[in-house]
Amino acid sequence: MIVYTDDAVKASDKIAGYDVDGTIITTKSGNVFPKHTDDWQILYAEVPKKLKLLHESGYKICFFTNQGGIGSGKIKLDDFKRKTKDILKKVGVPIQVFIAIEDGQYRKPLTGMWKHLVEHRNDNIGIDLGKSFYVGDAAGRPESGSGKTKRRKDHSLADRRFAANIGVSFYTPEEHFLNRPTEQYLKPDYQPSEVVTNMNIIPLLEPDNVKLPADNSEMIIMVGLPGSGKSFFCKQHWEKHDYVIANADKLGTTQSCLKICEKALAAGKSCVVDNTNVDVESRKKFLALAKQYNVSCRCFVMNVQLDLVRHNIKYRHLTDSNHSKINEMVFNMMKKKYTEPTVGEGFTHIIKVNLKPSFQSKADEELYKLYLLEK
Ligand SMILES: [Mg+2]
Repeated sequence: MIVYTDDAVKASDKIAGYDVDGTIITTKSGNVFPKHTDDWQILYAEVPKKLKLLHESGYKICFFTNQGGIGSGKIKLDDFKRKTKDILKKVGVPIQVFIAIEDGQYRKPLTGMWKHLVEHRNDNIGIDLGKSFYVGDAAGRPESGSGKTKRRKDHSLADRRFAANIGVSFYTPEEHFLNRPTEQYLKPDYQPSEVVTNMNIIPLLEPDNVKLPADNSEMIIMVGLPGSGKSFFCKQHWEKHDYVIANADKLGTTQSCLKICEKALAAGKSCVVDNTNVDVESRKKFLALAKQYNVSCRCFVMNVQLDLVRHNIKYRHLTDSNHSKINEMVFNMMKKKYTEPTVGEGFTHIIKVNLKPSFQSKADEELYKLYLLEK
């Protein structure tokens, strides 16, 4: 992250926070992304007036901008600095600018930039969240209007979620600068904080009277997208019952999973297939093996909504640098192939597994409760 502070900036308990692109400025060319460093203009004539008014009534004006292009080298830092100074000159009030240059804790909707403001850049003056607010165009609004007034749908919800994560009121540029009535947006359909709240209320399994280890040896087939918590569940619940766990990520291939399972069943042991097993085809081979050894096969399906799976992947990426990154393309392919398992495939039971995350620290738990996804 980079911070630029205008000489005349004063600390305040009231923060007026703004995104930059699409909020303070827009491109002159009409392109979504600027063609060059000088391809910008102030979005609305009301912008400088409004900022001046707020400044005069004691607000500290802060910009919070995601500029991944700087980290990746697409945008030159010097060019961006010059552009920022030009924008500040045009706006004409003292402003502090926070720039997240790569992925991670500083990039919106994560709150690293705000936290840095609170802890290091406000002269130890506490910030009143009730009086502070944040304005941005990444607000999850659907496409609207037609012809000349047509507006594309918002590219993300990063700004709306950034405000929600901080706990301040949120406005779109049109609501804030043009006093338009509250705009519709596509509601975030996942609540990571609720997962944590509900963690101790909801049962781990549905139906909840399921016996984990069976009386006789058996096969278990896990079903769930990458990041849905299969391996964590296996480690916590099957390992201690001495079930042999076959995981293609560790063993390399489906073939070696089949071999390990066969070896376990031949020795009278139980086994778990800890792969994504998202379609009938991939489950079939294992069901056939269970049949061959005359053992029953139960299916445990991770009961996690798609956005939460994506949330989990992002969380893991932020907290565990050792975990290999899940390829977006592979993930989308699996999502497409996903077919809900049925008893008709040969399972004796299909059991749902609810998400019960566990945390290494309080800080990890707090991170999990934030909206981590931009879309
Ligand atoms: Mg923007």
